Amino acid sequence: MKASCKYGSHRVLEPKGALPQAAIRLDNNPTCGDNECLIDVQILNIDSASFHQIKQASHHDEAVMAAMIQDIVKSRGKMQNPVTGSGGMLIGTVREVGPNFHNQDLTPGTPIATLVSLTLTPLIIEEITAIVLEHDQVHITGTAVLFDSGVYAVLPNDLDETLVLAALDVAGAPPQMARLARQGDTVFVLGAAGKSGLLCVAQARQSVGLNGRVIGLVNEPEQQALLEELGWCDHIILADAKDALEVYKAVQVVTEGQMVDLSVNVVNISDTEMTSMMVTKEGGTVYFFSMATSFQKAALGAEGIGKDITMIIGNGYAKDHADFTLNLLRNTPELLDIFKTRYTKT
Ligand code: NAP
Repeated sequence: MKASCKYGSHRVLEPKGALPQAAIRLDNNPTCGDNECLIDVQILNIDSASFHQIKQASHHDEAVMAAMIQDIVKSRGKMQNPVTGSGGMLIGTVREVGPNFHNQDLTPGTPIATLVSLTLTPLIIEEITAIVLEHDQVHITGTAVLFDSGVYAVLPNDLDETLVLAALDVAGAPPQMARLARQGDTVFVLGAAGKSGLLCVAQARQSVGLNGRVIGLVNEPEQQALLEELGWCDHIILADAKDALEVYKAVQVVTEGQMVDLSVNVVNISDTEMTSMMVTKEGGTVYFFSMATSFQKAALGAEGIGKDITMIIGNGYAKDHADFTLNLLRNTPELLDIFKTRYTKT
């Protein structure tokens, strides 16, 4: 192996000179480099856009899904869906820590969640033991490598590990909502009853205060009923996030033509850029957290409708995002209950 690089470039096989995320293929040899941490992996949380794509392409057949995932990891040395380009994250236990890894206090046997994407994490899957369709999670035996620059969280004792894995997968979204939504703002969340959607709606309610407004967009009556019960949204729109004109008209009605200050896109499907932008007022902000977002569609679409708005790419990382998101769950009992029902292993 080449001299160790903090960012893991020594593990890149192809193309020469690339960093691990952009690489086509990584060296996933399960030996611990001097500045690496080797992990015995238990569960992969596949990014929702990627999991959705694999599920659709496999017609929900778990054996076909498992074969697709195996093929991707075998050919790339990492779990990076070639269609969506996205990954996910994992939990496992530390097997070995190299002498130059930045934290020498991390000891073998410690349960951790990696907070860097699977798209840059060298991974070997020995066996897929289960696919949990409702959690977007894949139980495996395998080995992963965390680079010296890699962020991780030690799993807390007070929450179930599959729940923590689910929440940390989208941990970047709630702190960004807290940064972007101001008191009195009108905030619109596309995909409001999903995993990051609920976290974002809960945070938005706190951030905009009593004078602000939270509008949730969902595509199923059950999701609407859930949001009504939670009571965090001032308005709930039941519509297809791809239908820009219908959603635009609905937002026009509930905002009396004012439209929204901040639109946060957390759906897991493509072609929703126009909807996010059209509902946003001049000078407002769109936060594209969705991995199905197309830069071209957003940039050219905004130009096409003459919208002078700020568009932000959803950074998966924010300082202290893991603690922020887990504390939001701990401090919001209704949300924690939903996460326990949805994401605790049965
Ligand atoms: P999730 O739990 O699957 O939530 C997505 C929501 O979007 C679901 O409620 C889904 O409803 C809804 N939806 C799907 N199609 C819709 C439509 N046509 N109209 C309205 N709503 C629709 O996903 P998640 O885990 O929260 O992830 C959300 C997004 O963030 C994904 O795109 C994921 O890839 C991305 N992500 C980004 C980062 C980052 O670093 N930026 C990190 C992790 C995840 P149904 O259940 O009815 O389909």
